[in-house]
Amino acid sequence: MRLHRPLLVIALVAAAVVGVPPVAAAAPPGKDPVQVLAINDFHGRISPTTGNESRLPTAPGPDGVFGRGGGGERDDVVTQVGGAANMATLVQERRADFRRGAGGSAASFFVGVGDLIGESPPESATYKDEPTVEVLNALGMDVAAVGNHEFDLGLQELRRLSGATDGRFGDDIAACQGVTPGVDGCFGQAEHAFTGANFPYLAANILSAGTGEPILPPFEVLFTPRGVRVALIGVMRESTATSERPEGLGNVVFREEADAVNRLVPQLRSEGIEAIGVLLHAGGQRPAGDINGCEALDGAVVDINQRITPAVDFIVSADTHEAYNCMLPVPGGEPRLVTQAGSYGQMVTDVRLTLDRGTGDVDRAATYAATNVPVTREAPDPGVRAIVDYWVAGPAGQVPAEGAGALPGEGDTGSGAADDNRLLIGVVILGAISLAVLAVAGNRRARRNRRRRAWESYGYAPVGRVRTPPRVPPADTPSSRD
Ligand SMILES: [Zn+2]
Repeated sequence: MRLHRPLLVIALVAAAVVGVPPVAAAAPPGKDPVQVLAINDFHGRISPTTGNESRLPTAPGPDGVFGRGGGGERDDVVTQVGGAANMATLVQERRADFRRGAGGSAASFFVGVGDLIGESPPESATYKDEPTVEVLNALGMDVAAVGNHEFDLGLQELRRLSGATDGRFGDDIAACQGVTPGVDGCFGQAEHAFTGANFPYLAANILSAGTGEPILPPFEVLFTPRGVRVALIGVMRESTATSERPEGLGNVVFREEADAVNRLVPQLRSEGIEAIGVLLHAGGQRPAGDINGCEALDGAVVDINQRITPAVDFIVSADTHEAYNCMLPVPGGEPRLVTQAGSYGQMVTDVRLTLDRGTGDVDRAATYAATNVPVTREAPDPGVRAIVDYWVAGPAGQVPAEGAGALPGEGDTGSGAADDNRLLIGVVILGAISLAVLAVAGNRRARRNRRRRAWESYGYAPVGRVRTPPRVPPADTPSSRD
């Protein structure tokens, strides 16, 4: 933000000089513009990725078509992408872009569609993915659906990572409960102390076999500044066969994805909520192509979309690590936005909607579109980069290791002048290290605060999130294909 603010100011001043209004006209009366920024299958890629994970084909080669050229060679235009600090910059830029056009009634949200953790690189995996959770908190994630990899270390461990649901939906584990800090959890120190995910994890279709109740919140309701509500329902790929089921999930029953959504929609509408999106950790496949294309899309998401009620306004999908941006036909309804943003932080999907304040629904004749935007690497956000650097170095590398500054004990005998000098030098070095550590920490804190202020000036903080979902109808016999 520090880099971009002056640029923005210059742009605004330049616009004023040539007589163009610096801020575009606000949204039409009665309409609330909404932006939903989405990522999926991040898999703890907080550092800039390397190799194929970092190479995103963003344009066809000289032959004009994606895929290999006439001679069988890879000729697509490739862009280097990825890294959480770069993603932070992109999120800020897309928000700024949205708000310039949308005005004060606009609302912007940042959501995840599962597999954000699990199968992570060492800088996150070594610390039970607490680093990735800290990064997602810094990115301002509002809500996420679970993916299968969220359960890699078991449901109880996911409950420990989830701070936002503490005290409900069976989440009786606080962030540092049941672990020995620094040994098997709560690895971060000082400002990196682990506090759990600030966002809730959702799963509408995973029910406790014992109680028939969802094991996690089924949906989250988000508000625009004027109080129009958008419900996001989280659903995970159904895994009925025990062999496909994440091991740590325990004794649960899956509901078929569309069925789980369709059961919730009447409940939401009876509460007056008409704008509804689904965060679906299931996806489709397609041949290599434009990240904003949809040709030849195949797979689970196509079928699930067909069975989800037309009352659902958009589906952000995941799981297959593919990129697509579709308007898929819906039986008995209008075509619906269905997207996915690749994997490993390669891109962010920017969904833009217009809500009608009269009906509370998405006005599809107004803005109703999405764009997959590559996470390019020009200007990493310094605040998020500092968090990533901390974890790459490892918590032990950040402060003097315990015992490193141990002074000679009182019982030491025969300590002559040489020993006294060593003691003095030790104290001086220790003092210098402490000052350096304090200075670094202070700088980080200051940077983080500056960043927070900058984001807030764009209305960054989500408004009026409902913490407790409305009553969910008691689950009757859960459907299962077992
Ligand atoms: Zn994945």
